[in-house]
Amino acid sequence: MKKISLISLILLVIIGAWYWCVFDEYKFAKIADNVYVMHGPLEGPNPENRGFMNNPGLIVGKSGVVIVDPGGTYGTGKRILAAMEEITKKPVVAVFNTHVHGDHWLGNQAIVQRYPNVRIYAHKNMIAQAKSGEGKRWVKLMNDLTKGASAGTIATYPTNSAKHLQTIKAGGEYFKIHHDINGVAHTNTDIMLEHIGSKTIFLGDNAFVNRQGRFDESSNMHGNIATLQYAQNLDLDNYVPGHGPSGNAKIAVLPFLNYLRIIQNEVKKGYSQDLADYEIKPTAHKKLSAYHRWHGYEAAVGKHIGKMLREIEALDE
Ligand SMILES: [Zn+2]
Repeated sequence: MKKISLISLILLVIIGAWYWCVFDEYKFAKIADNVYVMHGPLEGPNPENRGFMNNPGLIVGKSGVVIVDPGGTYGTGKRILAAMEEITKKPVVAVFNTHVHGDHWLGNQAIVQRYPNVRIYAHKNMIAQAKSGEGKRWVKLMNDLTKGASAGTIATYPTNSAKHLQTIKAGGEYFKIHHDINGVAHTNTDIMLEHIGSKTIFLGDNAFVNRQGRFDESSNMHGNIATLQYAQNLDLDNYVPGHGPSGNAKIAVLPFLNYLRIIQNEVKKGYSQDLADYEIKPTAHKKLSAYHRWHGYEAAVGKHIGKMLREIEALDE
């Protein structure tokens, strides 16, 4: 009996240490004076990361804290609050959700539980879509992909809609909202958030680095190109992609922008020669050698070529 208890105790310590290591891996990194980003893992939601995969942001103002995209589960939201408290004890006064994909906003639940009066800002389309089914669909999707590790997550919706070029003051800091140019890019629910004081912009999933993303039917690759060009032209100091490392425009905007431009050029050429998407792929693949090592490249590139071809066909009609 005693032996079994001892073994159980040792096992518990090992599991506890492992759990702590996984937790501890995700701390906020300082990217500007009072701006922090917790760069999430590049892979999709799974039992190991328990649904945490995005880049939550933290801006510490004089009178309160602003959080951008507090993660994809209730548990992630709680981890973000715990990591935040190692930096500041100030209250969270506002949250911004960049778009409707649940890996960016299901963590709202933990923030609202601790700070019931917090304002949560998002695009009006994001709020409408989240409430009319996308929220519940993402809760189920997270639960399936993490094999139950996201249990307890409940869709907690934004409270305020945010408009293009609207300035919002929160925690003593000033923010400016930027919508997608042409209205649609990664989705039709995106906002980008500029923190004016530090010349930082949170791009949402309009930008990826070292990882590929999905273009679903609500997206527009031409819109994504225009939006990234717009973001680059803002000439800011710090760019935070939805996934992958932050940096200046060269590090965090240009890689995905150039990827999209190569896809666009190759598909345009292929379309003019009446080629199908699978016939365009081999030449495009060669031109995209800088991206072969990006997480998810193999699974995404064919779909991206197909989507770009449908967009170019539609533009030609
Ligand atoms: Zn997304």
